[in-house]
Order: sequence, then structure tokens, then C-alpha cells
Amino acid sequence: MTKIGVLALQGAVAEHIRGIEKAGAEGVVVKRTEQLADLDGIILPGGESTTIGKLMRTYGFIDALKEFSAAGKPIFGTCAGLIVIAKEITGQPAHLELMDITVARNAFGRQRESFETDLPIKGIDENVRAVFIRAPLIEKVGPGVDVLATYDGQIVAAQQGHLLAASFHPELTDDFRLHSYFLDMVKQRQA
Ligand code: GLN
Repeated sequence: MTKIGVLALQGAVAEHIRGIEKAGAEGVVVKRTEQLADLDGIILPGGESTTIGKLMRTYGFIDALKEFSAAGKPIFGTCAGLIVIAKEITGQPAHLELMDITVARNAFGRQRESFETDLPIKGIDENVRAVFIRAPLIEKVGPGVDVLATYDGQIVAAQQGHLLAASFHPELTDDFRLHSYFLDMVKQRQA
């Protein structure tokens, strides 16, 4: 069975495991870099990106995940995970510097800290319920990046080859089509 990990240093881990399993793969809680060799793809969850970034440095995940990506294995960053995967973060140093996007943290301001909306996503038939919590925005994308969703004219989901990123939390609803979308990316690579 296809194995998808969820980086479990901090943040919304159990919910992603549930999403992966609903989509039909095995979900693995990842706490050590040695576990990566066994995985077909990995999700970087939401939480607090500064904390996740620090823990990633402490436990060797920066280099390990760069290697994982260089091997072509798919990575899906959601919310804080999107921040962690970005090549550039406005106003501060980046973490993994993998995906050719520039990200602004906490971009929706105090008025709209948390909200839900029905979002059209390229490649998924009907709107997806999207939960935004102190969400980041993608301010800029490089030439190889495909924009999958916008909200209020701003980019909130994108894909660059084997890298997928969403500003919102696809694990906090019962709609796991984005997990299925990621699983399809993983299976395409395996084929
Ligand atoms: N605001 C958080 C950060 O900057 C991300 C929020 C989230 O993951 N829900 O890291």
C-alpha cells in the first residue's frame, strides 16, 4: 500500500492521517528522518511555522526533506506547511526553500483571522470546503508553478510538479478530495 507520512513535530497531525486513510493510503506519523526512506510522499501540516522550522533544524529535517524532494517524492504543505516549503517568505528567512513561491504569513489580517469558504480548485470537480486559520497567502509564483485556487483574487493553492501547497486546512473537514489529489500525484510518480 502507498505510504504517506505526516511530519509530526508540531501541528495538526492526526487529522491528516485520517485524511490520508480516507483517501486510501497508509498514514505514517513521522518524527525521525530515518522514517523518510520508507515513504512515498509526505504532508507538512498546519501549526506554527516558526516552531516547525526550528524543530526541523534541530532534528535534521531540512536536509533530509531536501533530499526527499530531490528524489522526486511528492510533498504537500498545508498552511504553516505551505510557509515551510516556500522558497521565499516575505520579511524573514525561508525554511526548506523548495517551491518557487513567495509567501506572506498571516495575510488575511485580524478581521478575517479564521473563516471558511467553498473554493473552486483546478482539477477537482466541485467546490471544496476550505478552512482558513491565520492563513498565509502566495504573493508570487515562479514560471513552473500552476495556480490551483484563488480567493478574493489572491493565490491560496498551487502545484509545482511534485510539490503541492494550500493556504487552508483540508484536514479539518470531512472532504478529503485534496488528500486524494495528492495521493494521485504520488501514484503518478510511482507508475
Ligand atoms: N500563522 C501560522 C504561521 O505563520 C500558520 C497558521 C496555520 O497553520 N493555521 O505559521
